[in-house]
Amino acid sequence: MTETMAAAENYIADYNICMDRLRTEDGRQLFPDGMKLLSHWNLRDELKAHYKGQSDQVPSTKDEKQEMIYQVMQRIVRQEIPQEVINNHEPIWYPYSNKVESQKSKVESREPDTRYQKILDIFHAMQQVDAYCPNMPTGIIRNFEGDIEIPAAEIDSLFRSLISSGQVKIVAAEIKNRLGRELRPYDIWYDGFKARSGMDEEALSAETRKRFPDPITYEKKIAGMLTTLGFQKENAEEISRHIVVEPARGSGHAWPCMGHNEPSRLRTRIAPEGMDYKGYNIAVHEMGHNVEEVISLYKMDYYMLHGIPNTGFTETSAFLFQARDLQLLGYGKQTMNRETFLDQFWGMYEIMGVSLVDMQMWQWLYDHPKATAAELREAVLEIAAEVWNAYYEPVLGEKDCVLLAIYSHMVNSPMYLPNYPIGHIVQFQLEQALADKEGLAWAEAYERWYRLGRLTPQEWMRQAVNGALSVQPILQQIQ
Ligand SMILES: [Zn+2]
Repeated sequence: MTETMAAAENYIADYNICMDRLRTEDGRQLFPDGMKLLSHWNLRDELKAHYKGQSDQVPSTKDEKQEMIYQVMQRIVRQEIPQEVINNHEPIWYPYSNKVESQKSKVESREPDTRYQKILDIFHAMQQVDAYCPNMPTGIIRNFEGDIEIPAAEIDSLFRSLISSGQVKIVAAEIKNRLGRELRPYDIWYDGFKARSGMDEEALSAETRKRFPDPITYEKKIAGMLTTLGFQKENAEEISRHIVVEPARGSGHAWPCMGHNEPSRLRTRIAPEGMDYKGYNIAVHEMGHNVEEVISLYKMDYYMLHGIPNTGFTETSAFLFQARDLQLLGYGKQTMNRETFLDQFWGMYEIMGVSLVDMQMWQWLYDHPKATAAELREAVLEIAAEVWNAYYEPVLGEKDCVLLAIYSHMVNSPMYLPNYPIGHIVQFQLEQALADKEGLAWAEAYERWYRLGRLTPQEWMRQAVNGALSVQPILQQIQ
């Protein structure tokens, strides 16, 4: 299992597209020299970045760069992408006609379904694990009933109730109005809601660089930041004593504490000239994990129940903190407004579809244990198109679009994707419970929740907000 997972990880980690080698059919280069994007994260983020220039009410035309990224993504999912353009700066690639110009290699073969072979390899390893788990005999059961503790069918219908809601049409109409053009499939990543402040990022970076020159300084400021959220000084100091800040090699992460003598580690990347705003925003997200880890371990009275119901719930804590990054800098209380609701709703709509495709693929694998990589590819294309046609085509167009199958998680993190929408659903319900709370009341509500321990998700929600996991609260905000 470890070997196949590591192989999938390596495959994804090197899946770069050299954007400066892409050409339109009339030979133009759209992306700057040296731009190399990792699929799917960087491709998606670059696509999102091009919503910046499109302002409200000004009719715009289709963006050439976004269209080209969309084309590249489809080539990857369909495995029509020429093998030689993956992580290779030499050849010139015309994604529309799929033509390749290369000085060195003459072969113009498509990637030989490697993407799907990696998934099959993991499935085959998982089948060997199955033999040792008589009471949870499939990876699907272990993932949903075992780890997440919500059956797959329940999650499936929860997601469908949001993506089939009438609210989708309302938000889509609003986006269409703002863009001033017909919607395109990649508008599932529309990034124009002003959920984040309108503040200038450079000015914020100047401030965060000055405030956080190195990890040690960040560590010393944690207690103070917690008090701005409402934690009492003594409590804030006690929590922060268990958090250690260290430099990270990647973008950053939180490393949980497992035993009572261990710190929770916040790993963050700080450049020599100090922490820029993007880095700060990520560090605050990670700090949300750390604070949850400390409270749910050190303040939970029964060790065997320490922790939280599932991964989604620690993401929720991280989102709660991240949404208050400016408040932590002393800019006053940050609350949700209509733009936040629209932004969150549209994000859920996107990631729920992506998750359903992942979940259905795994069901298909167990139904077809002898499948080849080519058969799996065809099945995924069919599943992605089916979900698209039912819930996305009506507002975004393009029948049989396979965009929902682009996430790399599908290849290297089996059935992980549903954790994201679950995290967002919980976050929204908690945010709603926090809406009228400020200062100490806010901190006390937060702390009470994360002391509940590793209950089942539904029982945790019942004790936290007196209701079940539900998409109704967000649906009610979109009218
Ligand atoms: Zn996180």
